[in-house]
Amino acid sequence: MSFRLFFFAIIILMSKPLIILNWKMNPARPSEAAKLFKATVASASAKLNLVVAPPFIYLSELNKIKSGIQLGAQDISSETAGAFTGEISGLMLKNQGVKYVLVGHSERRWLIGESDDLIAAKLSASLRAGFKTVLCVGELKQVSKAQAWSFIAKQIKRGLADVPEDKFKNLIVAYEPVWAIGNGHTATLEHSSFIAAEIKALLGDKTPVLYGGSVDVTNIKSFLNSPDFTGVLVGGASLKVPSVKKILHLFLK
Ligand code: PEP
Repeated sequence: MSFRLFFFAIIILMSKPLIILNWKMNPARPSEAAKLFKATVASASAKLNLVVAPPFIYLSELNKIKSGIQLGAQDISSETAGAFTGEISGLMLKNQGVKYVLVGHSERRWLIGESDDLIAAKLSASLRAGFKTVLCVGELKQVSKAQAWSFIAKQIKRGLADVPEDKFKNLIVAYEPVWAIGNGHTATLEHSSFIAAEIKALLGDKTPVLYGGSVDVTNIKSFLNSPDFTGVLVGGASLKVPSVKKILHLFLK
């Protein structure tokens, strides 16, 4: 094995998988949020980089009890301060201990109607503010790998159009095929690895790529064992204590 290959093999072995738990608009009560969070913290393994992205309203309390895991935000304002009713700025997130920010999640793009321009402005604001920023991308319907990539390449190029290259170091791309979110259908490893390879060919080998779309205890390892993925984004399976425990306990051994 050449020195270069050996070096890369060591880096891969040393880098911990990143698991981001996206709670979306759940749970309804602060007591339930605290219970779920405490169980998540208790099951966290030192072998993982674990991030919980709760609704904004819980960040302050969870920041007080987080230990060994990081907080993420599900969204960020493109603006820094001022008359923007309902918005949450990067500085507010920083002051609640947030380290990771999701931008362009499919539910914000396709259910709430965020435009490509707005997503690009949010991505730029988040990276400029120094957050590890996860740009979520993914095709809407089950199509060929080439068709999916042509759709995703446009999302990435548009998203990054306003970001200076020196800010790319905190960029993470989450490949989340919209047809696979929240319904138990996952993309095949072959399909998702093809997209991950294209993302790296476009943005550079070091760009971390996550997979998201119905990840659960039965399939998480296949994505994390693949050299194409640095980690996963988990939605539904992050909302119930038994399912979180089952997933995280896979990493205790
Ligand atoms: C998500 O919300 O990013 C997601 C992947 O959800 P689920 O795991 O429920 O498909």
